[in-house]
Amino acid sequence: MKTGLETLILPAGEAAAEAAARTLAAGGLVAFPTETVYGLGADAANATAIAHLYAAKGRPAFNPLIAHVADLAAARRIGRFDARALRLAEAFWPGPLTLVVPKTEGCPVADLATAGLDTVAIRIPDHPVAEAILRAFGGAVVAPSANISGHVSPTLAAHVASDLTGRIDLIVDGGPVAVGVESTIVGCFEAPMLLRPGGLSRERIEAVLGSPLARPPVEAGSDDSQPLAPGMLASHYAPRAQVRLDARDIAPGEALLAFGPARLPGLDAASAVMNLSPAADLDEAAANLFGHLRSLDAKGARTIAVMTIPGEGLGEAINDRLRRAAVAR
Ligand code: AMP
Ligand code: MG
Repeated sequence: MKTGLETLILPAGEAAAEAAARTLAAGGLVAFPTETVYGLGADAANATAIAHLYAAKGRPAFNPLIAHVADLAAARRIGRFDARALRLAEAFWPGPLTLVVPKTEGCPVADLATAGLDTVAIRIPDHPVAEAILRAFGGAVVAPSANISGHVSPTLAAHVASDLTGRIDLIVDGGPVAVGVESTIVGCFEAPMLLRPGGLSRERIEAVLGSPLARPPVEAGSDDSQPLAPGMLASHYAPRAQVRLDARDIAPGEALLAFGPARLPGLDAASAVMNLSPAADLDEAAANLFGHLRSLDAKGARTIAVMTIPGEGLGEAINDRLRRAAVAR
């Protein structure tokens, strides 16, 4: 990962919002306050920036991230809103409600941000500093909590600095944020579903919908949740192909997902080859992971043989994802 970065701390204001927008556009990482906690922002369309975000947080797994936008027009560029989703957005945004909706055609949000899913989680935060940054930037910004994985969520710029100095580019100090609960997450599926309880109550959402929210068949967020509609409720993308790990050779007809120099016996007979990172760079591999799995799947591979990926840095999260793909069936 990138360490030894110069981490700038700026007081919130117009200059900070512009610096934040420039940093995000350049692929950098910016911590900023939302009404829930300080978020660690990256350009949602930039897979490399998102790989750096995971590395900075030291997250051992790739969970789908929430795309933050300034207004409904920006939300509708990345997600498809049916009548009910629109009603919820209009009633509760900006605010602590995240809506999971199908991606638009040509949605610019990176696969790594949605963990390869066809849906995208979106919200408009209710905080003037977050709003100013999102407006200045223009695009969607993923922003999980700005702390090292496993540490408590930061409610002060100083908390962010103690965890992430040297690992991120900029902290915008907007003072303390309310010790917030996380956003409520609603899946806008055939039957709108409460995926995670949070800062907005079920009752208020149901009052706007005029009907009860469905319950997920299993605990939301549990990694083994069975998809209701493929790609919708599933908390993780699973390829159709079989996935074979630690491949040291390739059987005829298998596709190869390579890492580093690919010189395996049987390479000539592979049905397709994609390389996560010819240079064996784990951040680059993370950025390419979901896109390459999808491409090999789309080429109709029956089995994807995956070369060994080292376990350090983002390798831990990459291997976690690949192990799930190997058992998902
Ligand atoms: P947070 O921890 O507040 O950053 O929220 C991230 C959580 O949002 C993830 O762990 C998921 O539970 C949920 N989430 C994000 N995107 C999706 C999606 N496309 N489908 C279902 N849940 C999602
Ligand atoms: Mg967190």
